[in-house]
Amino acid sequence: LASRAFHPQDTLVQVGPHVVGGANPVIIAGPCSVESREQILEIAHAVKRSGAHMLRGGAFKPRSSPYSFQGLGEEGLKLLAEAREVTGLPVVSEVMDIEALPMMLEYVDVLQIGARNMQNFPLLRAVGKTDKPVLLKRGLSATIEEWLMSAEYILSEGNRNVILCERGIRTFEKYTRNTLDLNAVPVVQYYSHLPVIVDPSHGVGHSRYVLAMARAGIAAGAHGLIVEVHPRPQEALSDGEQSLTLEDFDQMMREVTRVAEAV
Ligand code: PEP
Ligand code: MN
Repeated sequence: LASRAFHPQDTLVQVGPHVVGGANPVIIAGPCSVESREQILEIAHAVKRSGAHMLRGGAFKPRSSPYSFQGLGEEGLKLLAEAREVTGLPVVSEVMDIEALPMMLEYVDVLQIGARNMQNFPLLRAVGKTDKPVLLKRGLSATIEEWLMSAEYILSEGNRNVILCERGIRTFEKYTRNTLDLNAVPVVQYYSHLPVIVDPSHGVGHSRYVLAMARAGIAAGAHGLIVEVHPRPQEALSDGEQSLTLEDFDQMMREVTRVAEAV
């Protein structure tokens, strides 16, 4: 079902007023984690002003250490819904397990499946039984074929609203957190009709490299970007190292718009 041989025309995923998979790149921006009401509202207003189309923010966080900040949970989802209310931006947030799914469905516009859950097959089947758009991140060490097979799990349950997200893979390189595999963009577009977006934040792990790879993702033909933004990255409770400031994000939007016009 994910294959272009089965479905030659590009899939368009409608999220609120926006279409993912068409000619215009869709930009999703926001903090790694929702931290407080003030934080999420400040970011939502700022990214909206800069031209973002959707707001991201984690409420349930898959942290490498069980002692790191785990997210605000349902309180975080309520704050995201409030930010949507005041800005009109649809919201994207990660669903970590099946038990949390009914709650997530009440609050979010797009269900994010994190890299660490890309092969959580029961979770994929469960989101496949809903009609919510799903943002399926590529696993830390997943091949493109494995990633497309994970999309297949969702599609085979009936949910056709799948957006793929390249977020970098594990390699031997240590100067970056992951290696952003931009090869995946045209390769996915050859083998599949599903939209594919790029996450340069997790792809490189350092804010100083994010703008370059955001431009590169759009130049490669991605249908959009998902980017981490924080007004005070050094104070962020997760992923501050890779978060753009509000000013950097504004700059990114201007640069990415120019690249999109050129491709
Ligand atoms: C995130 O988007 O904050 C996140 C945890 O991403 P990934 O699953 O790609 O690591
Ligand atoms: Mn993050």
